Amino acid sequence: MKNEQAQMTGLGTIEISPCEMPRAGEGEVVVKPLYVGICGSDVHFFQYGKIGKKVIDRPFVLGHECSAAVVETGPGVRGLHVGDRVAIEPGVPCGQCWYCRNGKYNLCPDMQFISSPPYDGCFRRYLRYPERMIHKLTDNISDIGGAMIEPLAVGLHAAKTGRVALGKNVVILGAGPIGIMAMLACRAMGAAKIFITDLIDSRLRRARGLGADYALNPQECDVPGIVLEETDGMGAQAVLETAGNPKTVQQAGALAARGGHIVLVGNVTEPVELDLMGLMVKEADIRPIYRYRNMFPIAIKALDSGQISLEGVDPGIFEFEQIQEAFDYTVNHAEQVMKTLVKIGA
Ligand SMILES: [Zn+2]
Ligand SMILES: [Zn+2]
Repeated sequence: MKNEQAQMTGLGTIEISPCEMPRAGEGEVVVKPLYVGICGSDVHFFQYGKIGKKVIDRPFVLGHECSAAVVETGPGVRGLHVGDRVAIEPGVPCGQCWYCRNGKYNLCPDMQFISSPPYDGCFRRYLRYPERMIHKLTDNISDIGGAMIEPLAVGLHAAKTGRVALGKNVVILGAGPIGIMAMLACRAMGAAKIFITDLIDSRLRRARGLGADYALNPQECDVPGIVLEETDGMGAQAVLETAGNPKTVQQAGALAARGGHIVLVGNVTEPVELDLMGLMVKEADIRPIYRYRNMFPIAIKALDSGQISLEGVDPGIFEFEQIQEAFDYTVNHAEQVMKTLVKIGA
């Protein structure tokens, strides 16, 4: 077995090179990535070399949306066996701190999140990883589906944080990959009417095809007017902002029902002016989320049972050798691409 890695060696450049074959240590397994998705954060690093304070300053391996097969188990590994198909949960928390011990491990200050510097990611043929952050797939979940569990986990965490439940109306701002995953999560959790908005019509068409009740372009219609009219003047009990845009954050308050929850999912990198009085009289709250926690097992059960289906998502697929093209394509076709996957060991 020979290992290879795809390193980002400069802005917009990814090169494949040989690298050391990992060995599984105590509590670890070696896996062979099958499909690895290109995340919005990967694209951002690829184009700009940094996200906020996280800077890539050496050849670096991106990729954290990964289905894989176990090829070696280390001492002390009990739950996994060679040949198991798995999904990798990309953050490895310390397991010891207050946050970890209270179930909020996504807030662990010592989180080692792969594909976020300095922790190399999954675009490689073999990878060593702790068993405790690996989740077994069932036969009902495809290798491709397994690579989309990570973004689905974000959507589930968003829907749960917005307390989406049977009979509640939901507005999702942004119909990109995360907006779509949030929509699938909301549907599965029983949402009544789902409104989704975007400026790009092809995304809205896709959202409609995947089950949105209303897919609205704010340049072409009065979104708050339609939401109010279709919700008996109440607005939505949950508003999920996935666009990461200051404007949509500002609009969220007007879309929320009294007592509603506004969930900030997209990365909002600039300060935003808010009508707080508008939120106060509604007693609407704003709930930012950071990645997800405890969601992989739920995503896997929902995919296994068919309560959530990724069938219609239809990702674009590139071979490992074409990873440069895969990134270029994703950058140049940002409007059309729902998800690009790199096929590695499948
Ligand atoms: Zn991701
Ligand atoms: Zn911790």
